[in-house]
Parts: sequence; C-alpha cells; structure tokens
Amino acid sequence: MDIVTAPSLNVATDSECSATDRWQQSLRNAIRTPEELCEILQLPDAYRIAARRSAATFQLFVPREYLAKIPPGDPEHPLLRQVLPLAEETSTDGGFSRDPVGDGDALITPGLLQKYESRALLVVTGACAVHCRYCFRRYFPYDSVPKGEDAWQPALNKIAEDSSLDEVILSGGDPWMLVDSRLQSLTEQIAQIPHIRRLRIHTRLPSMIPSRVTDALLRTLTATSLTTILVVHINHALEIDEQVALAVRKLVDSGTMVLNQSVLLRGVNDSVLALESLCRELVNLRVLPYYLHQLDRVEGSMHFEVDDSRAKELISALRSRLPGYAVPRLVRERAGGTSKEVLA
Ligand code: SF4
Repeated sequence: MDIVTAPSLNVATDSECSATDRWQQSLRNAIRTPEELCEILQLPDAYRIAARRSAATFQLFVPREYLAKIPPGDPEHPLLRQVLPLAEETSTDGGFSRDPVGDGDALITPGLLQKYESRALLVVTGACAVHCRYCFRRYFPYDSVPKGEDAWQPALNKIAEDSSLDEVILSGGDPWMLVDSRLQSLTEQIAQIPHIRRLRIHTRLPSMIPSRVTDALLRTLTATSLTTILVVHINHALEIDEQVALAVRKLVDSGTMVLNQSVLLRGVNDSVLALESLCRELVNLRVLPYYLHQLDRVEGSMHFEVDDSRAKELISALRSRLPGYAVPRLVRERAGGTSKEVLA
C-alpha cells in the first residue's frame, strides 16, 4: 500500500530558519501519532485503535494551533473529524478511487498539470501543514514531484513554450510549505515568462499555522508584477480564531485578492448553520467564499460524502439568508472535464 508520510519535502532545515520563523517550529512540534492526539483530546481507546490502523495508509499530521481549537472528549467535533483517522476510512466502493480527479492523465511533465484552458498547475511540494482525511491527493505520487530549483526547470520551460497560458497555479501539497527564499525565486522565474499574468496560490497554512504569514511572505506577494490570487481553504467558522483572523487581515491588507474554498463534508459543515456562519465570518474578513466543493471521491473518504440533493438544498438555504456575494458556488471536479461542473 502507498504510504503518505508527514511533511518532509522542501521544508527549511534548522540552519535556514530565522528566529522569527515560528511556523517552522510549529511544523516540528505538530502531532504525528494517534496516541498523542487521543491522549491530548481524551478520546476513548476505540478511537486510538481505529486511528492507528487508518493512519497506516495516510499518516496523521495536525499542528497544535489547530488542535487547541478542539475541546477534549468530543470525537464528533467538526474540526476533529477533518483530521482524525476513523475506522470508516477502510470502507470503499467502486465509485471511489486513488485518483478521483484525473491528475495522472493531466500530467504534462513531472510536477506540471494542465486540466483547463489557459491555466497550468505546478505541484511544488508534497508537504502540507495538516493531513486532511478527505484529501483528494492522499495517493498522489509526490515522489515524482521536482525538488529544488533546478528540478522545476522542465516544468517552467513547458509553461514558457505555451503562450495560450496566462495563469499559473501553485499547488501541492501546500506551496506555502516552501521557505520564503524558494517561493520568491519561483515567483520571479514565473514572472519572467511574458504571457503569464496571474499567479494563483492554493494554501491551507493561514488557517492551520497562521504564523506562516511572515513579513517576508507578504513581500513576496506584493513585490511581483504578477496579479496574485490567494485561495485559502477553511471549512468551518471554528477554524477562524483571533490569530487566523489576524493572518488573513494581513493578507487582505497586502492588496492580494483572497478567496476561500471549502469542501462540503458530512459531520463537519453539512448544515445551514455551519455554512452560514463560515460565509459570514469570511466576508467579515473581506474574503469571498468562492467554491464549495462536492467531495472528490478518493478512497478512504466515503464517510464524508453529502449527496447532491442535500448539497443543493444547503446552497438554496444560504441564498435566502445571505447576500449573493457571500454564497459560494457548489462545484464538482470531474476527471477529464473541461471545467468544474457547477451544481448550484
Ligand atoms: S491541505 Fe490540501 S493538499 Fe494538504 S492534505 Fe489538506 S486537502 Fe490535501
């Protein structure tokens, strides 16, 4: 079986860290075993045993900042469900696969994917600040992802050769797991390609380890000539504490367009109340709720699925309660599709 391990790729070593790089310390201190997680949150033994089995295929990894928002003794807590390996991860059926969104077929060259016209996606690292149990890339072959600046050159050459592209998406893993110097260098190389006008960054770090939003990172965002669009990933309003709000405000204040994408997850945010509070919190922070994704049907995630009719009901209820700009589009990604399918 493939095993996805905790972050190790492209993360700074101790010698690269400045004293202010608390986020590096947070990564080193993150929870990596079901035993530790279950002990801190005082979960019954049955959860520890199940988590140990399910984490054997996709390792548990949770930063302490996120864990601190979860009260002890509540295995059903919406934040815990996103990170706790459950026995249900071993259930599957034919509709669930290891590559539900067709990443393999979209690969142009190692680390570079193209699914839709005018955009290409660079997988710059396999590392993340958290292992989301529903992750559609939990089986992605990250070993083949280029590591280091020289290794990115073939992918950058491909982007430079294709003048139909005008946007590059940095993805992963989480691109903000790269240290600032590497991010800056990559951004500069992309900005030198004349037909590339926009850089989109998909990251979960601001809500997982908000200290990742360093001054150096903000400078990288603002110094480039590219129009930068940041897509954060927050699924529940309880993820937004004071520190997260502060980090998000810094990002918005930098002039970067900030959007949010969420995944609709059973037992996490599949209620009108949960989605409404999330959307309100986001717009109060000047972040537009952009997409609400139907689950990508990856093996091990079946217990998170919400059926389409319920998902549409939820969006319809949001429309009656929120201003239009605060209602996300309900979408599904289909392998081989020419765009995302908009369901509502
Ligand atoms: S942050 Fe994104 S890529 Fe990383 S585990 Fe979560 S869903 Fe997957």
